Amino acid sequence: MQLFEESSTVGNIVTCKAAVCWEAGVPPVIEQIQVAPPQQGEVRIRMMYSSACHTDCHSMAGLDEYTCFPTILGHEGAGIVESVGEGVTSLAPGDPVVPMYIAECGECGPCIGNKTNMCVKSRAWLCKGVMADGTTRFSCRGKNIGYYMSISAFSQYTVCPEEAVAKVDGATEDDLRRLCLLGCGVPTGYGAVSRVAKVESGSTVAVFGLGCIGLSCIQAAKHAGASRIIAIDLNPGRADLARVMGATEFINPLDHPNKPTQQLLQEATAGGVDYSFECAGGNVNVMRTAIESSHPTQGTCILISLAPSGQQLSLNPMDLLTGRTVRGCIFGGIKGRTDIPHLADDYFKGKLKLDEYVNLEVPLDNINKALMTMSTGKCIRPVIDMR
Ligand SMILES: [Zn+2]
Ligand SMILES: [Zn+2]
Repeated sequence: MQLFEESSTVGNIVTCKAAVCWEAGVPPVIEQIQVAPPQQGEVRIRMMYSSACHTDCHSMAGLDEYTCFPTILGHEGAGIVESVGEGVTSLAPGDPVVPMYIAECGECGPCIGNKTNMCVKSRAWLCKGVMADGTTRFSCRGKNIGYYMSISAFSQYTVCPEEAVAKVDGATEDDLRRLCLLGCGVPTGYGAVSRVAKVESGSTVAVFGLGCIGLSCIQAAKHAGASRIIAIDLNPGRADLARVMGATEFINPLDHPNKPTQQLLQEATAGGVDYSFECAGGNVNVMRTAIESSHPTQGTCILISLAPSGQQLSLNPMDLLTGRTVRGCIFGGIKGRTDIPHLADDYFKGKLKLDEYVNLEVPLDNINKALMTMSTGKCIRPVIDMR
């Protein structure tokens, strides 16, 4: 049964389908929504494919304070620019694109410098449910619907700021089926290793949590020439995929009930690994284990997961006094407009694996199946056909 008519444009307002999350803790519902035209400096994108990330489930459950309900979730997507607002110069209708939650304006201090990707411009809208002018472009049944991470990829159309949209020249519509993964998980893991930690050849690496981010850390560590890449997860089903991505060893903490994981790693690597990456989903105890697994005098631990609001991470000052470094990053330190085209190019050349993450593809109408399957660990990344 066809629930809704195909998307249509009347008076430059697009009517299309989207998965609307009306309140925290309740799964999204497929609704017909209106998407306003792009304003000054914005572009409207026809989303072709989206993928779901654990952060969508985390927000859907109401575990963070940043999600503005009602909202349209989704922050990994790829589509085609449908129209552009006044003043947009770098994008045109027909461009294949990946929208991003961290902008790259190219003009602010962070964008010009090389220390961080945290573009100052993003702060006007990120986590506020609106665009820079304080309003949303989405409405449904006469109610305003908030943005999610300034993207809302689970809508057939979205409007985003020009500086938060990466153009991927040469990508075909079919390529977008995989390039949607470049919206969050893959660049987050890949960048944490290559941009934030800057792992050197010959380093020892431990990766906690083998979801999309962890597996992407492994890919990047392999490309960097790490000598040992130790993959850690409670799910033995992830060991094979970790090896495909480049892991040299796999540890399941459940196989070692009498020895803490940090001790296992310290013993296996003469005191601790050079680099540890925590991407196990925001458990502060695992964060601490990852920190203690890095070498006390020269190790670096990178925290990547989002912990539930209100949780605290405790540390012994001695953990840091001896010289260990602990850092965090968002979006892997990636500057999207510059870096996403390079990652796409690596995928086209066979240097970056993306197909291996996807073992479920569903139409938008079945989005709840995608979210459910991912949250039970049965798939790394479900792809949602938005067309
Ligand atoms: Zn900037
Ligand atoms: Zn994400």
